[in-house]
Amino acid sequence: MGLKAKVLVVEDEPAIRRGIADALRFARFEVEEAADGISGLDRALAPGLDLMLLDLMLPGRDGFEILAEVRKSRPRLPVIILTARGSEDDRVQGLAGGADDYVVKPFSAKELIARVEAVLRRSAERPHPAGLLRLAGGTVDFERREIVLDGGGRRELSPREGDLLAYLAANRGRAVSRREILERVWGIDAEGLDTRAVDMLVARLRAKFGPPGDSAVLTVRGSGYSLGDTA
Ligand code: CA
Repeated sequence: MGLKAKVLVVEDEPAIRRGIADALRFARFEVEEAADGISGLDRALAPGLDLMLLDLMLPGRDGFEILAEVRKSRPRLPVIILTARGSEDDRVQGLAGGADDYVVKPFSAKELIARVEAVLRRSAERPHPAGLLRLAGGTVDFERREIVLDGGGRRELSPREGDLLAYLAANRGRAVSRREILERVWGIDAEGLDTRAVDMLVARLRAKFGPPGDSAVLTVRGSGYSLGDTA
């Protein structure tokens, strides 16, 4: 049996990093390790990587900075963040920043491998929506992953922003709840999860449409979000 996928582990605690690397190798993943933020970012941007496990508190560059940099040049690289128990804000910020999932320390090898395999599976299955979507302020070009603004100019969409727009478009005419968005757009079990990551993603998306952003993606009070009428 060959190796499955190449996983980068960015974690500064040697014992935790070693434990993760061993578990991954045992499950036949190819593993690269980085012990600080600077080498972690370096390796994350190198070709051939299939997934990154990213600690948030790191010397050099922290995990959020690495995630932001990686999302610019490798928007579809699956990233799972490693967070401390109780740090709900880190999870929210990480998911809003484009992480695909998170695991809470301390975690078992079994749990970690299950998450890695689930994220790899989901990212392979993630639909690539096509076509154009006309909204207040601009037109979404799913193929090119950008918004062509009515007033001129283009704004690049992150994969998650594109996925959210595609999901809302497919469910036009009803309000989609924050929890449903977490479950269907991120693909994670949203039970008991803070949904602010959804609000942060929507806020960023609206800003890309400019001032009409609030009319492009509507807040439905007490229910969630829906797309506005085509201008
Ligand atoms: Ca750390």
